[in-house]
Amino acid sequence: MARKEFNDHEYHGGRVTDDPLDDKPARMRYPCAANQCPMPGTIFPGNTRSWVCVYHCNAHSGDWPRITQILLDWQCVTSEINAARRALTGESARDPVAIDAAFAAGWQRLEPLAGDWAEQLRPGNIRVRGVESRHRESYGDWANRLTEFIGGRVLDGLTKRAGAAR
Ligand SMILES: [Zn+2]
Repeated sequence: MARKEFNDHEYHGGRVTDDPLDDKPARMRYPCAANQCPMPGTIFPGNTRSWVCVYHCNAHSGDWPRITQILLDWQCVTSEINAARRALTGESARDPVAIDAAFAAGWQRLEPLAGDWAEQLRPGNIRVRGVESRHRESYGDWANRLTEFIGGRVLDGLTKRAGAAR
């Protein structure tokens, strides 16, 4: 379902060609090969011969369903990562006003769902080696930080399971 949502307007069973003038990189147009994964496949590791997302890339295939479940549990965040990617690579990419509006709308959607994580997920200043700079995060910076945040949740989830199995 989530996977379909991301690709609704651009995915029709492979390479998409809705707009022949679209200069988005083709790699954005594949869903991740992991079943039900909500992320686009942005990496093509030679060993699997299919496009996978940054979270499924290099993970043991036995961990794939668990990773997918974590991504689905955090759909409020993963959908904002995908919304940012769409905005920053779509028609609005060169329109700073539209990007600002999309950024603001993204946080407006996420904040009420973020619960105890709201402070951590709130758009802020760019951090350099953990130290906050005076420069505001761009929409892309924020999306990258959300991507890393989800990476942390995936690692946590896999570590907990490994611990429980012992
Ligand atoms: Zn994936």
